[in-house]
Amino acid sequence: MDETKFAIHIHTHYSDGHASHQELVKIAAKAGLTGIITTDHNIWIEGLDGYYGEGRHQTMLLVGEEIHDRTLIPAGNHLLAINARKELAPFGDSPQRLIDQIQRSDGLSFIAHPVEDPLEAFNQAEFSWRNWDVQNFTGIELWNQMSEFKSVTTSRASAVVNAFFPSKMSQGPLERTLALWDELIATRNRPIVAIGGVDAHQFPYKLGPFTIYLYPYLHHFKSVTTHILNPKPLSGSFPDDRNMIIKSLSQGHCFVGYDLPALTDGFNFSVNNDDGQFIMGDEVRIKRGLTFQIRLPQRALCRLIRNGNTIKEWQDRDVCTHITTDPGVYRVEVFIPYKGKLRGWIFSNPIYVWN
Ligand SMILES: [Zn+2]
Ligand SMILES: [Zn+2]
Repeated sequence: MDETKFAIHIHTHYSDGHASHQELVKIAAKAGLTGIITTDHNIWIEGLDGYYGEGRHQTMLLVGEEIHDRTLIPAGNHLLAINARKELAPFGDSPQRLIDQIQRSDGLSFIAHPVEDPLEAFNQAEFSWRNWDVQNFTGIELWNQMSEFKSVTTSRASAVVNAFFPSKMSQGPLERTLALWDELIATRNRPIVAIGGVDAHQFPYKLGPFTIYLYPYLHHFKSVTTHILNPKPLSGSFPDDRNMIIKSLSQGHCFVGYDLPALTDGFNFSVNNDDGQFIMGDEVRIKRGLTFQIRLPQRALCRLIRNGNTIKEWQDRDVCTHITTDPGVYRVEVFIPYKGKLRGWIFSNPIYVWN
């Protein structure tokens, strides 16, 4: 498989972000990303999708949209639309119609920050998802860095520390979001794709005559990334490459990596049965038995999770295997020490094993 790496969920100055699309692709190239997916609030910008830069250093820009229901107070139900390539804000007050419209346009829909806490120290509301009766969305944003800020910031003093030293903050997706994801898969009995989102804005902060930028884009782009595994290398032709990446993403051939402690490139979670090898996102029959294999870019703490429960844990390993005949939804979580704490490092999409 050929690995590509994206930062997803980015705001530009078309909404409440603080850079242009052209500036963002340059920052993405600096961060070593294959591309970025921008998602401004309730506005879709036409005509910017494509490759930027030259030759091997091309960076892909996909312009999506983050649509929310403007009739709700506070404005919950934020949905990321990727590759729908049309304006969808008019459907914001009807989540199911919105999801259906995205699907009809060959787009993918991800529930943004499905679980969020209010930022009480600043009287800011939470923007969780509210309408859980919706069907047919592609997946959820498992890790949202700015939601994490709201959850871990308990006072104005901790806000200052988290804002000025963002690399000391991130620890992983919220436990509640992980549990919700497992439950959604179990109750709906279908794959639900997880992505990592940065929710990058690069907030300006006035300090006397100076303006400093909190949570700069470069920090985000080097931190929570979605690694998408494709059947072949990128060709350099934008429409072909875009279609391949969107297809891989829709099938859950991806994992969420926190690349700041150490690059997560090269992580692999696969399973073999009599029919061959399968990867994250695949649905597999047990046949006569299964062998799972996990490869980590470096030694770390690795957990294999089945139906939401840890069934095996390896300390300080870079290759882990597990043989089974049990059906279930299998996924992997990896943790690594960084800046004095054990941090979430890699969160795989599941391999779905049916009888
Ligand atoms: Zn949002
Ligand atoms: Zn956002």
